[in-house]
Amino acid sequence: MEGGSIAKNLERVRQRIAEACLRAGRSPEEVTLVAVSKTRTIEEIAEAYACGVRHFGENRVEEAEEKVPLLQERFAQEPIVWHLIGHVQSRKAKRAVAVADIIHSVDSLKLARRLDRFAAEAGKRLPVLLELNVSGEASKYGFPAWEEELVQAFLEEAKELASLEHLEVRGLMTMAPIVEDQEEARPFFQRLRMIRDLLRERLSFSSWDELSMGMTDDFEVAVEEGATLVRIGRAIFGPRDYH
Ligand SMILES: *Cc1c(COP(=O)(O)O)cnc(C)c1O
Repeated sequence: MEGGSIAKNLERVRQRIAEACLRAGRSPEEVTLVAVSKTRTIEEIAEAYACGVRHFGENRVEEAEEKVPLLQERFAQEPIVWHLIGHVQSRKAKRAVAVADIIHSVDSLKLARRLDRFAAEAGKRLPVLLELNVSGEASKYGFPAWEEELVQAFLEEAKELASLEHLEVRGLMTMAPIVEDQEEARPFFQRLRMIRDLLRERLSFSSWDELSMGMTDDFEVAVEEGATLVRIGRAIFGPRDYH
């Protein structure tokens, strides 16, 4: 991208978040912008950092392992908080624990148990979010939660998840289906918030506050519905090039 456009894009994204907050009677401080830096270069990330971004999201362990050490060294004074947002294969759990500050995509008990074990070995307590599939799309990862019965089953699993001593469950994450009009994504965000509220009420998980929802095409609606973390890539860095 041309120099300066990341700064302009960021300004626009922040303004749109603020406007969505205003519509919902929320404070913009309740919403953390996670700049999704997958496929982006170190220089692009540094440009966003220079504009004040301190939270970045990567979706692959390998790519995070390449970038994180370079950037942590460069910005040692005020380090980046690294969010791992993509599906983590169980066999990469140990590496995920080593590279991430928070993992949004804990999508099974099996993975959670492994992360817990490796966090214990590393002597840390790892902040995590539980990814829920609230749409029923087969292409989506996450604990199944698109019907009432499934939500009840998830509540049971949530008890065990909350008992893992080396994981600090902070809330829930979801990806809405890709839709033409972001209004169509609203019910999925409402559903995630409702499940979060249910967990708080039924199981007194008072610290499960976070709702990671909203991407480039639907973040405004997600913010209106209570997102506390938005994961935004293209609106900041431009279209992705996978080559
Ligand atoms: C890539 C990605 C995003 C960001 O998508 P954009 O459409 O570029 O904003 C958000 N969340 C996850 C899990 C992703 O993999």
